Parts: sequence; structure tokens; C-alpha cells
Amino acid sequence: MHIKPGEITSIIKKELERYENHINTIDSGTIIQIGDGIARVYGLDECLEGELLEFPNDVYGMALNLEQDNVGCVLLGSEEGIREGDIVKRTGRVVEVPVGDELIGRVVDSLGQPVDGKGPIMTEKYSPVEVEAPGVIERQSVKEPLQTGIKAIDSMIPIGKGQRELIIGDRQTGKTALAIDAILNQKGKDVICIYVAIGQKQSTVAHIVNTLGEMGAMDYTIVVAATASQSAPLQYLAPFAGCSMGEYFMHQGKDVLIVYDDLSKHAVAYRAMSLLLKRPPGREAYPGDVFYLHSRLLERAAKLSEKLGGGSLTALPIIETLAGDVTAYIPTNVISITDGQIFLEAELFYSGQRPAVNAGISVSRVGGSAQTKAMKQVAATLRLELAQYRELANFSQFGSDLDKETVKRLEKGKRLIEILKQDQYVPMDVEKQIVILYAGVNNFLMDIPVNKIKSFEKSFLEYIDTHYREITKSINEKKSLDDEIKSKLNEAIDEYKKIFLAELS
Ligand code: ATP
Ligand code: MG
Repeated sequence: MHIKPGEITSIIKKELERYENHINTIDSGTIIQIGDGIARVYGLDECLEGELLEFPNDVYGMALNLEQDNVGCVLLGSEEGIREGDIVKRTGRVVEVPVGDELIGRVVDSLGQPVDGKGPIMTEKYSPVEVEAPGVIERQSVKEPLQTGIKAIDSMIPIGKGQRELIIGDRQTGKTALAIDAILNQKGKDVICIYVAIGQKQSTVAHIVNTLGEMGAMDYTIVVAATASQSAPLQYLAPFAGCSMGEYFMHQGKDVLIVYDDLSKHAVAYRAMSLLLKRPPGREAYPGDVFYLHSRLLERAAKLSEKLGGGSLTALPIIETLAGDVTAYIPTNVISITDGQIFLEAELFYSGQRPAVNAGISVSRVGGSAQTKAMKQVAATLRLELAQYRELANFSQFGSDLDKETVKRLEKGKRLIEILKQDQYVPMDVEKQIVILYAGVNNFLMDIPVNKIKSFEKSFLEYIDTHYREITKSINEKKSLDDEIKSKLNEAIDEYKKIFLAELS
């Protein structure tokens, strides 16, 4: 038989033309590599950045690296039982979390699933974890105070609703304590609080949830927990998830306070994830977009315009430093993103000055405009006096003969420092803060021994509560200290001082 090569090629060509590729690589793909919580998937041609992917065994993943021939994704569950060659499906949705009132009082994971054993959360509303931050037109400037109930902060480093204020300090310097006190102080103030725990021990989180519960703060608080035992992707998602839950309330015109505890561990989780995804490492091995990671999160804190309901989301991110080094990569990044920072110093903490706020280098860049006039009146002198005290205290260590003026300043400084000390879990109303600070800055406490200042403060405020209610009431109403209130206050302080000093002697 005579075979013509031309005929054969034309037949083969025809057959090939008719051949249809039945493998659908648009909506599904196959795993080509899996391990360390990361999967590489071939296919998924139209996959979106941040899209939720369905793996076998009801495990979900999130697409993060869209590369030319494969998609790099992180698993949001256990990789056990998932093998190379398994099929992965697109869901068409980006990663979402449940939002709504039903979440209040609950402890949830990064995907909004309850972990407190109180049953499922019945909510139909979902919100994507990554949302673009409100733009310039949608915002208004920070103008209302968010009281933390901590004297050192409300007086000198005031925070406004919609602000982002960083809490930064070494390990065990009271960072978490400060944030928890701020949450406790929102009781009855119509502020919804969200505490996001990232990379902490489970026992620590349990302790915090217990404390919040005992103090009645769970009635208005959501806890989002991604503990150290959970995978890096879940730790990475936690603050974004918490933020979305908060934004829901903000868009309803409510005020929200969110604490990210802490973003150092968040950055570490993101670094681990990025290195496994083979993204190029940069400074301190963090990926190049770690700045963007935190800026896009913190930009979502806002005070919305009246047209949009005037709601607000105030963010208190926490950063842990090593030996007070604020020039490391992540601390400098977050310092430059936020509207101010509260520095906590180990030295102050161990010397007994708690909260260990270093008033000299802590700032609040926008909160001042939100402070009430009454607080401004006492706080202006307070800052100045403390700055002078610090200078003199350093200086006077060397000299023995001090002139009268210097001794007086030192004595006053010591008393002011004593007033700023505050125990954990006892946030104080702003009117009371004003009353005691007023007494301090106006030299009323000079004849009370330094070691008796704390007990004076406590009993004096009780005295005001029983005999001079109208003072705190009118400070609250007028929001400024006029002559009438001042003379009443002077009278009350003098009166109680006599009682107190008589008891002492
Ligand atoms: P970590 O680095 O471990 O997260 P942290 O900086 O968050 O620590 P906390 O856990 O808040 O610090 O506080 C450390 C310890 O100091 C706790 O035992 C806490 O009870 C105590 N503490 C914090 N603030 C005060 C305070 N104002 N008065 C007395 N004790 C305090
Ligand atoms: Mg802590």
C-alpha cells in the first residue's frame, strides 16, 4: 500500500483541530505542592487575589500569590489528609467574616467562628476581611474624646474617637493592661470594643476574657483570638477580621474601639507566611510590603462624616520593643503610621511608676483637639511641671545645696508623679481626674507627705462624691473650669485637707 505522508498529516491536523480541551482550568486546579500550611495549585486561571478556595476535607484556603503558572495559597485549616494531585475549587468570594450584633459578647477565631463553647453565632451578614479604607471626603477630623480612664493618658496624651494611637514598650511593661483598662472604661459609654489577640498564649487570652467578663465588659466587647498555636495565616487574618467586625458598627453610626495586641507578632506571622510563599525577604527578613500590611489595616480607623452617620473606629495597636529599641523596623513603621504613641518604659515600671508612661516622649498628634477645656486647663500646667521636674531631678542628683525654688519644684513634681500612678482595673471618670489634678497643679498638696498622696486622693474623691457632688456634675456639664467651680473646688480641698491632716497627726 502506498501511504502519502501529506494525507496523514492533514488527517492528524484535522483531528487535532477537533480536539477539545475538556480540562477546566478556570474554576478548579490541582495541587502540585503542599506543606507548611502552603499549597501551590496549577490551574485556577481566573482566581482573584485574596479569594477563598475550597480544598478537600472542608478545608479552606486563601489565594495570595497569583503567579504565571500557579497560584500560591495559604491553608486556613489543617493540611492533614490533603495530597498532591487533589482538586481545589474556586468559590468566587474573597475571605469574609460574619458581622453584626450577635457577635458582641463572644470569643471568635480569625474566621469569625465561635471558640467560647456558647453555640453557633446566628448572623446572616458577612463582610470581606480586606476592605478599602474610607477616603478623605468620607471622613471628618477627630473631635470627640475617647476617655481611657487613665489619668496619665487622658490628661497628657488624649485620644480622640477615630484616632490611631500606638501603645509601645518592652515586654511586661503593662501594654495589655493599659488597653484592657481603656476597654473597661467604656462601660455605659456606648462604645463597642473589640480586642484582637494575635500570637498570644491561650492561657493569657483566657485570663483576659475572664477579666472582661467579671468586670461586665463582655456586654459590649468582641474578642478575636488567633493564639500562638494557630497557623500563621490565621494570625495574619485576625486583625483584619476584627477590623471588619468593627467597621460594621462604625457604618451604623456607632463608636468602636479596637485593640490589636500585638502587631509585632502579627508582622512575624506575616513574615513566616511570606517566606513560605517564597516572596523575596527584605530588611530583617520581612517582606517588602510589611509597611503596607499595617498601613492598610490602620487606615481603616476613621471618624466618618456626618453624612455617613458620624460613626468612628478608634484603633489602639500594640507593639513590643526589644530593650526599648524603637528604631527597629516594625516599631518605626507603625510609629510613622499612627497619630501618636504611648511609650511604656521598663525602668519606670520597675521603679513602681505604673502605668509606666514616659510623658516626655509620648505624644498624641490629633487628640488635643478632642480634649475638654477643663482637662486642657489642668493638663497644660501638668505637662510643663513634669518636664521641669524631670530636668531638675536629673540635675539635683549631683548638687546638695538646692535653693528654695528648686526644692519646691522637686517636691511638687514628686506629688504629681504620685497622682499619675494608677492601679490596674480602676479606670477613673474624667471629672474626678480633673479634680485631683487640679489640686496637684495648684499646689494644694504640698503639705501632704508624698507617701500619703495616694490615700489622700482616694479618700478625697470619696469625700467629693458624698459632700460636693455638684462640683463633678458641673465640670461634666460645663466642660470647663470657671471661677465658680474653681472657688467651690478650693473650698472643698481646703476643707478635706484639714480633716485628712488631723487624722494623720
Ligand atoms: P507582655 O509583653 O507579656 O504582653 P504587657 O506589656 O502586655 O506584657 P501586662 O501583661 O499588661 O504587660 O502587665 C504585666 C504585669 O504588670 C501584669 O502582671 C500586670 O498585672 C501588671 N500591671 C500592669 N499594669 C499595672 C498597674 N497599673 N498597676 C499594677 N500592676 C500592673
Ligand atoms: Mg501583653
